[in-house]
Amino acid sequence: MKIEIMTLFPEMCETVLGESIIGRAQKSGAIEVHCRQIREYTQDKHRRVDDTPYGGGMGMVMQCEPIYNCYRAVCDDMGAKPHTIYMSPKGRILDQQKAVELSKLDNILIICGHYEGVDQRVLDKIVDEEISIGDYVLTGGELPACVLVDAVARMCSGVLSDDVCFTDESIYSGLLEYPQYTRPEVWEGEAVPPVLLSGHHKNIETWRLEQSVELTKERRPDLFERYSNGK
Ligand code: SAM
Repeated sequence: MKIEIMTLFPEMCETVLGESIIGRAQKSGAIEVHCRQIREYTQDKHRRVDDTPYGGGMGMVMQCEPIYNCYRAVCDDMGAKPHTIYMSPKGRILDQQKAVELSKLDNILIICGHYEGVDQRVLDKIVDEEISIGDYVLTGGELPACVLVDAVARMCSGVLSDDVCFTDESIYSGLLEYPQYTRPEVWEGEAVPPVLLSGHHKNIETWRLEQSVELTKERRPDLFERYSNGK
């Protein structure tokens, strides 16, 4: 999968996505992530990319032209029109189902807004969907873009060591994950649940499912209802 990110702060995304599992996935070629500086696509001699909003009001709005020029350069380089996403608090809230859907695409382009956002006309022209990472407002789209890339990329083939790593996890499985434990067997007087030391795989599986069900009922009754109805 190829992912392009259009941003005024490419280093922010490169730093976050260059680390850990997603960083290794880029090095191994399992995914490609490329960040574009929108400022490089403005005709303005001062490299300005924003202006005051028509109708008045606070803040600045990102202009159409640099974003559109940058988008066209991405399309030319990809040789295709990528699925184009604008990170926005007005978008559909990201969930696992959306991440699964996006992980099946070959090319994704993510646009990060800043200031008061982006001129609506260019969004109407190039954006396929708007995605929010939650009901709160951040200063820019870079952190939301990194969240989206991480959620999507970890489901692409070759990114995690084993695909079971994600199918077995919270939300994806329909339930919250059971509690996890590792060495030592006793820590600060607290022992690991004995069943996990039994070596009895069937009993461990049953215990984990019971724990998942109880946790989901308690913390996420909405998820539990969907899980029960889907069974
Ligand atoms: N004035 C806009 C509004 O009220 O909808 C908010 C603009 S926000 C300060 C600047 C940029 O941050 C947005 O253009 C968007 O790209 C990004 N952003 C902020 N909150 C976000 C969220 N919850 N999910 C995704 N992107 C977000």
